[in-house]
Amino acid sequence: MNNGTACKICGNITNNRIYMAKERLLNLRDEFPYLECANCYCMHIVETPDNLSKYYPAEYYSFRKPKFGLSPNPFVHYLKKSLLRHYLKKIDPVGAFLALFLPHPFPWMKPNLLSFDSSILDVGCGSGRVILSMQRSGFKNLTGIDPFLEKDLRNSAELKILKKDLFEMTGSFDFIMLHHAFEHMDYPDRVLDKIRELLNPSGTLLIRIPVANSHAWRKYRTHWFALDAPRHLFLHTPHSIQLLAQKAGLTIDRIDYDSSFVQFASSEKYLRDIPYSDDFSMFSKKQMQDFSREAARLNSLGDGDCACFYLTVK
Ligand SMILES: [Zn+2]
Repeated sequence: MNNGTACKICGNITNNRIYMAKERLLNLRDEFPYLECANCYCMHIVETPDNLSKYYPAEYYSFRKPKFGLSPNPFVHYLKKSLLRHYLKKIDPVGAFLALFLPHPFPWMKPNLLSFDSSILDVGCGSGRVILSMQRSGFKNLTGIDPFLEKDLRNSAELKILKKDLFEMTGSFDFIMLHHAFEHMDYPDRVLDKIRELLNPSGTLLIRIPVANSHAWRKYRTHWFALDAPRHLFLHTPHSIQLLAQKAGLTIDRIDYDSSFVQFASSEKYLRDIPYSDDFSMFSKKQMQDFSREAARLNSLGDGDCACFYLTVK
């Protein structure tokens, strides 16, 4: 327990709790204090480590090279675009047929959110997995930035993947997205102010993040997989995102929960002191199905451990 440390989001100093969380993903087991705010329930690392790069080795998943060929096959490109058109509620018989077998390639992409010409910025894009895939589905104005890239990876009119910090960016975008990047960033208030500056007045910001004070946190506490100390500096709640949005002149339009079986499968392994891997063969098929079913149930209740926040300019 600790009553003297302030929440970095709402400033609350009363009844906040401190938890000691271990680094688990790389099994280094270094310990870090995290504060859980008793007002907005945001959790954040008490002090951002100076040597954070130690915790992002070269093989960190977001920097792995995506498995894409250099030039997309025109026929595959056509099929991918048809499939997406169908999911975006456009009339497309080829896409409707493909959708019998293939899921939505971007479940966070709602109808009417984007057009194929929208200018799109992916902040913290890693090696560009998401925007490369979007290019293959027909999008024509894509920029990804990540300060931790070794160098620029692409620089064409349609697609840029640049080694760049958000605060160096200029321009104006219809859609700005952060796929599991925001929780890695210090000073979330400054980040949102900068994004607000880059966002078209009629544009949308998508923030996909793990959600604190959700079922998986309450069940697993410091064994919760998505706590991911010390890489996740902030684990937000709808309340803390609301406070940040308000300060930046943004408003939350919609929250969709998109947690998966991982919140159980990976947290159960941490609970049993099994190092991280994506091998889940210790669980039966039935257990895995139960994890997925429970994730879907929690998502429908707004209690899954991951969500998509859609924000617009006030
Ligand atoms: Zn707070």
